[in-house]
Amino acid sequence: MRNTRQIVGKYAMRTIIVVSRKTILHAQVQIGGCESCSEDAGIIFEFVLDEVTGREALDTVYLLSEPAKCPACGARVLEDTLVEPVGMERAGRIYPSFIH
Ligand SMILES: [Zn+2]
Repeated sequence: MRNTRQIVGKYAMRTIIVVSRKTILHAQVQIGGCESCSEDAGIIFEFVLDEVTGREALDTVYLLSEPAKCPACGARVLEDTLVEPVGMERAGRIYPSFIH
C-alpha cells in the first residue's frame, strides 16, 4: 500500500486537472474503441485528454469528474484505459511509439 509521501512525490511536479463532463464528451468522440472491444486500442485515454485540453499527460494528472464511455461498446473508460484514437494527428506526432 502506498503511503502519503509516495503519492505526494508522484504528483509533486504535475498539475492536477479535474476534467469536466464537457471535456470528457469532447474526448470521447475522438476514440473509436477501447481495450475491451478494439485490438487497435494502443494509447491511454490521458493522451486523448492531452489532445482536447492542449496539455501534456507527462506534466498533468487528469481526474475525470465521471467515467467516459466507449462509443463502440459502452464500457467505462478511465484515465489509464487503452483506447483506439481516431483523428488524432497531434498524438501521433507526440507519441508515435504508442500509435500502431
Ligand atoms: Zn469499447
